[in-house]
Amino acid sequence: MNYQPIMQGIFEEMQKEAPLGTVATYIPELADINPDQFGIALLDVDGTHYAMGDSEKRFSAQSVAKVFALSLALRHAPDEVWKRVGVEPSGDPFNSLGLLEVEAGRPRNPLVNAGAIVVSDILLSVCDNPLDELLAFVRAMAGAQDIAIDEAVAASELQTAHRNRAHAHFMRSFGNIHNDVEEVIGVYVRICAIAMSCSELARAFAFLANQGRSLPPSFRLDARAIRRINALMLTCGFYDEAGEFAFSVGLPGKSGVGGGIAAVCPDRYSVATWSPRLTKGGNSYLGTRALARLTTLSDSSIF
Ligand code: GLU
Repeated sequence: MNYQPIMQGIFEEMQKEAPLGTVATYIPELADINPDQFGIALLDVDGTHYAMGDSEKRFSAQSVAKVFALSLALRHAPDEVWKRVGVEPSGDPFNSLGLLEVEAGRPRNPLVNAGAIVVSDILLSVCDNPLDELLAFVRAMAGAQDIAIDEAVAASELQTAHRNRAHAHFMRSFGNIHNDVEEVIGVYVRICAIAMSCSELARAFAFLANQGRSLPPSFRLDARAIRRINALMLTCGFYDEAGEFAFSVGLPGKSGVGGGIAAVCPDRYSVATWSPRLTKGGNSYLGTRALARLTTLSDSSIF
């Protein structure tokens, strides 16, 4: 399928949308961004790449990067992940502490903050250098050796990460964090602070659309792990708007408070959008609109 006319049409439509939603400000460094940017990139499983708008500008991946952390943890220690983290949607905001009390420190899923903090703890235990390994994985998949952690964003979030520290201490009190809390939060925050463009994210998510064929030889994942990551993205990838995203877009994906969304249509394409204005639920407003148009115009909802 030639996606070019569809991409062009979506780009033009998005220029006409009202500027709804606001930029995330609780990480001070993210508040300074120009909110009126929009990029989209799509990689067909046959390798054809399409891109429009601010598709090559790097932005803070934030929770989109939780998918990379989970993938790496599943490569090293799948049993440990499923023992310590659940697979149910939370129906709660990404940083909610409430359920952890009821569920004795076992996070609902690996894509909410608590779950990604446990995944970071597992990576600290099983990798010699989790951040180097994660960056090597992401760089190889995205085909860009200069992808890096934005240390200014990480430092900014570390100053305000009281809630994430509270999560980690709380889970540690139940025995579900094994390493030093400050070290775990340092890894978690730096994973979120990886800066990537839409084109790089579309390439890096391709393995979830092509049954793992694009994974570098040293990072192979089995088909079951890939199916499970996609299932979790569909049910848990959009905070407490996962139902809305499945309803209006119909693709597994993951959003981040930096305004990015990466999604896959298995056996067809991987796609990424970026626009910093967020809905109340924390998902990119224009990104969600654009992906809803994409699945409508290309008849590619998975349902
Ligand atoms: N680093 C952010 C936090 O923990 C990630 C939030 C997000 O993108 O959902 O608050």
